Amino acid sequence: MECRAVTRVLSVTSECAPLVKTGGLADVAGALPGALAQHGVKMRTLLPGYPGFIWKLRDTRLRAELPECFGGPARLLEVRHAGLDLLILDAPHLYDREGGLYLGPDGRDWPDNPERFAALSWVACEIANGLLADWQPDIVHCHDWQGALAPCYIARSPAAQQVRTVLTIHNIAFQGLVPATRLSALRLDSADFTQHGFEYWGKISALKAGLIFADRITTVSPTYAEELLTPEFGMGLEGVLMERRADLSGILNGIDLDVWSPEKDPHIIPYHAPVGKLPNKAVLQAEFRLPESEGPLCVVVSRLTEQKGLDLLLEALPVLLERGGQLALLGTGDPELEAAFTRAAEHPNVAVRIGYDEWLAHRMIAGADAILVPSRFEPCGLTQLYGLRYGTLPLVALTGGLADTVIPATPATLAGTPVATGLQFHPVTDSALSNALARLCALRAQPDLWRRMQRNAMAHPVGWDHSAAAYAALYKNLPGITP
Ligand code: ADP
Repeated sequence: MECRAVTRVLSVTSECAPLVKTGGLADVAGALPGALAQHGVKMRTLLPGYPGFIWKLRDTRLRAELPECFGGPARLLEVRHAGLDLLILDAPHLYDREGGLYLGPDGRDWPDNPERFAALSWVACEIANGLLADWQPDIVHCHDWQGALAPCYIARSPAAQQVRTVLTIHNIAFQGLVPATRLSALRLDSADFTQHGFEYWGKISALKAGLIFADRITTVSPTYAEELLTPEFGMGLEGVLMERRADLSGILNGIDLDVWSPEKDPHIIPYHAPVGKLPNKAVLQAEFRLPESEGPLCVVVSRLTEQKGLDLLLEALPVLLERGGQLALLGTGDPELEAAFTRAAEHPNVAVRIGYDEWLAHRMIAGADAILVPSRFEPCGLTQLYGLRYGTLPLVALTGGLADTVIPATPATLAGTPVATGLQFHPVTDSALSNALARLCALRAQPDLWRRMQRNAMAHPVGWDHSAAAYAALYKNLPGITP
């Protein structure tokens, strides 16, 4: 294969910041292209044309018309927006509707989710096949189950044989399981509907298709890459991953330091050193109608789901409150958790906002003393990284990316090098979390030690430099990409 100095990569994603976001995938998809540019990688991003943003885009160019795209006509639009080179799949019959990206107004998956994201993956394959005369990718890098059929379509497409594929797992809990009756609707070959293909207990598994057919598989932290090989975390796909072990690696997510930086964050009172957090804490307490207090103000910014372990926090909360601590939570999700936290907010030192608010998230992370992430599993996690950057010490469960990014307070790390940047607890139970909250309160009561941890946390590298270099190296080591 011809080798080019610039590696051309098509990123295939169902969400991408700043245009459309429900979680960490969007942040990663939005930040990677810029971070990779310095490594000779030219990335374009293929994204569904959801109604929430498509009208905002200016100067879109029509690149292709697709008369029959999984049940209706579609267009492929090209646009440069927020520093990203975007290809937008404008397919109104699939995306133009009121509701969430994945869920309808009734809170259930859209019934045609398989077609909605098969279409995205199919169009990625068409681009790999040369749909755009002037741009063909060397690599298609797809994300999660929504993009995971692309490696399968590409592997089965003679015209795209030279294109390599990478699948990144951001969360294995979502696998894109589809009844076998939809095989032909999804343009899949029944010959691949086997145990060695994308069949999973009698269903089509979009994620498994990617795991089988992609040249390389990555996930978003080294610890999660190891955990995925176990029944506890692999969610039924551990055997498939074990077989692909040689091609599986973990590359930590970074955060966008232009967006998450206490020195230049427009949503806060900027600061360079931990002491600068004090006025932000006062603002936050006022905003949440919490009394002024000496105890640690802890925040949570999270989806409210079983994964995030916030039911454990409800159990452990008295330990924090008894020691003069406070909790401010911003989140949305499971109605039962929303109701339980709303009830907890009857306590004067607990405040809760149900909803999604990007700017409030910035003010909370700037103003708090600590950020709590008690997840049962966490592929990487981003909010603990924001916490480090802002000197807001993370208290995290010892799992996945949380284990890889926080240096836990122990007698050794409190005394010497490396210096602790937060607290970790294990096992992920309410009693271990209670103990950790008690330790947090005890540490917060030692201002010199706390400051030292804060300074160390703020100096901890959390940007994309290291990870972008790792992705670039992965791309360049794919067969046919480098000499
Ligand atoms: P996940 O992708 O599992 O939701 P991550 O920690 O990887 O978890 O990423 C979550 C992202 O979504 C972070 O950028 C976080 O700040 C943001 N986020 C989550 N819930 C909210 C919310 N209610 N309001 C604002 N931002 C939120």
